[in-house]
Amino acid sequence: MSIFLVDEYKDMEPYLPGEQPKDKPYIKLNANESSMPPSPRVFEAISKGEIWNMSYYADPHCHEFRKAVAEVYGVTEAEVFVGNGADEVLSFVLMSFFRRGMKIYFPDITYGFYRTYAKTYGLDMEEIPVRDDFSIDIEDYMDLKGDIIFANPNNPTGMTVPIADIERLVKANPERMVIIDEAYADYSGETCLPLAVKYPNLVVVRTFSKSRNMAGTHIGFAVANRDIIEDMNKIKFSFNPFNLNSITMAAGIAAVKDTWYLDSCVKKTVAARERFKAALERMGFHVIPSKANFVFCYHDAIDSGELCDRLKEEGILTRHFADERLTKYLRITIGTEQEMEVVEIAIREILKEAVGEESIDMRLYECVGA
Ligand code: PMP
Repeated sequence: MSIFLVDEYKDMEPYLPGEQPKDKPYIKLNANESSMPPSPRVFEAISKGEIWNMSYYADPHCHEFRKAVAEVYGVTEAEVFVGNGADEVLSFVLMSFFRRGMKIYFPDITYGFYRTYAKTYGLDMEEIPVRDDFSIDIEDYMDLKGDIIFANPNNPTGMTVPIADIERLVKANPERMVIIDEAYADYSGETCLPLAVKYPNLVVVRTFSKSRNMAGTHIGFAVANRDIIEDMNKIKFSFNPFNLNSITMAAGIAAVKDTWYLDSCVKKTVAARERFKAALERMGFHVIPSKANFVFCYHDAIDSGELCDRLKEEGILTRHFADERLTKYLRITIGTEQEMEVVEIAIREILKEAVGEESIDMRLYECVGA
């Protein structure tokens, strides 16, 4: 630590993203990315013309991109904010609407970045315990004295809160801001987006990093009441007006318009998830029913941390969390059908050593066609 770091940042706890080792090729299932490529329209959009455009600053208002997002989601451009990933969009929400010391509530089991933001912005965070089965009880949030953020579907569980419950929460607390992080909502098929333009205290945040297969371009957006978006843009122009570059926006416009491709990728991932979940269950895993692009699971016969390490030796990256309530589990992102077959076989081999071959249901072999 240098002598220049300001005191308030000295006990900051930076977020730890999923590792990206480069020592050999891996099947990368540790950061809920997609293994599929972006829409073919993105390949066409990154033309030589876009490279010529690099000489000039991109439009800081992101008009064309916001207009494209607005059209696809049935809202107006004034109700859309775009940023460098959902992470930056969330950061602008907190920067715009939270003072140091302000209260923020979120579930104790959720996306780890909320804790990091709360520390970065000096917020008074309170973590509300989820139920024993990891579900969120909306009643716990009904009468709070501060603003609320949660992910729906939640990460790392993949569980959802019904949209009707979220609407009840938003309606009953008009003076509380409710931020719903819908990073995985394309996989659940349930969304609060229409509510975000109906209620002035709801902000919905989305990303292109998952279902649009574009984590590398890092695009996120928020939909909310036009006053909220105007405030966020004011803050953006006071911090980093050019938060999205021209190449990224060209890619984003092409991707957002290709709703057919989005749907087909989501369908493939959901089918692979259900097939993989069934295979894990046949091997004796406990798997939380997930509505996202990952599963959260454990096996009684093998420690999840050890399984994570063993899979890494086999060239497969998964995510194990050290937190007390999560350590029993392993989060496995859903890749392509072929990748999941490799993962099933690798897990089966590891389990064979742990519990003996006869304990594992042979139907797995039928399932992977081995
Ligand atoms: N929200 C949730 C719930 C996430 O799991 C993630 C990614 N891990 C993000 C936001 C970040 O998305 P982005 O890549 O757009 O910053």
